[in-house]
Amino acid sequence: MLFSGYRHILIFGLANLVAVAILARLTVDGFASLWCGYAALSAGAIDRAAPLAEAVGRADLVFAEYDTPDQAGHDWGAASPQYRKAALLIDEEVQRLAAALDPTRSVLIVTSDHGHTPSGGHGGPEAGVLSVPLVLRGEGVRRGVRGRAEQVDVAPTVAALLGVPIPASSQGRTLVEALEAPEPILSDLRRSLCQERTNFATRYVALVSPATTLPAGECSARSADADRAASDAAVRAARQARWRLERRGRTAWALLFLLALLLIGWAAHRSVAPSEALVALAAGGLGLALYQALMPAVGLAYTFSALNDDDQLGAFFATDMALGLGVLVVLLLLVGFRYGFRPDLAWLATWDFAVLFVLRASLIYACFGVFVRWEMPDPVWGFVFYLDAIVVLAVGLSSPFAPLVCRLGGRFKP
Ligand SMILES: [Zn+2]
Repeated sequence: MLFSGYRHILIFGLANLVAVAILARLTVDGFASLWCGYAALSAGAIDRAAPLAEAVGRADLVFAEYDTPDQAGHDWGAASPQYRKAALLIDEEVQRLAAALDPTRSVLIVTSDHGHTPSGGHGGPEAGVLSVPLVLRGEGVRRGVRGRAEQVDVAPTVAALLGVPIPASSQGRTLVEALEAPEPILSDLRRSLCQERTNFATRYVALVSPATTLPAGECSARSADADRAASDAAVRAARQARWRLERRGRTAWALLFLLALLLIGWAAHRSVAPSEALVALAAGGLGLALYQALMPAVGLAYTFSALNDDDQLGAFFATDMALGLGVLVVLLLLVGFRYGFRPDLAWLATWDFAVLFVLRASLIYACFGVFVRWEMPDPVWGFVFYLDAIVVLAVGLSSPFAPLVCRLGGRFKP
């Protein structure tokens, strides 16, 4: 037995909207959603509390999405007074709403799906972007509980409050410690979460890595938490086994590719003295370090948060190209002024600079692959791979001009 019967639940904010919306559409009789746009900020006030409270009276589950702080974050950044003003407006709205709801019949959940970086932007792993509030208040919620939760916990917790089954592929947990109910009901919630996770693990392991052993947990009242942990561990083990298997296949290709590069590089370096080959290699390493050090100054970072707007994607990649080429020109001038403006040395320094990027991109390919398939790896590696590939492309296309830099530089050498 789960919580008996539906409660009227109002979710304020965007977290897990899609998952909970699907759950709501499938299993809840009444469903409503309200949206309050950005224009309200310029009007100076938002007051949708009355219609929202009315909607809660009609539907079992109501979503209220207010995108005002998100837009303010995109336009001015999280450190701006405008962002603060937007947050305070939402705060006032939540207070009005809480006062209009009957806490013995309704549950109010306030949350968000992300924050913003100080200069604006989200989607990356920054602490300010990842940390959002989760507040639950009303019937069935224990008062005064504090703790940490994850976004994946919202859907199973809402399911428990609604008295409906946990979504089948849920990877979070019901926040049992935040719920007010007799122990047998809480125990049932733990058991049903364990059962959901066991079913999920069975299907996941069969698809991802059938050789992985599944635990024979029974999800009894006494062992529900331990059995759920064992199922979660089996899911992690299956994921790692699949990664290991795929890495083996990709590593062979990456090694073959690097071997070919090594041979070409060796052949190219044979034309100069060993000491000069070392100079070229050191110049390449210095170039990579310089590129890395200058990235923040030109607004590049390995995170979606660096792209505050979809329209910035072209400029982002163009900046990466320009940085790679700028660093290369600096390298060629440095090498030229120190060791003479010689086309063969310039070629070699250019080659070594590009090869270091290729080397890193190949390692990322071997470890994670470069396309999103059954699981999305940490996007930071995707950013490193594609930004490196763009630098190599830019350097490759402009390498015929390296001797030109030599010639121009040579004119200015005293
Ligand atoms: Zn946004």
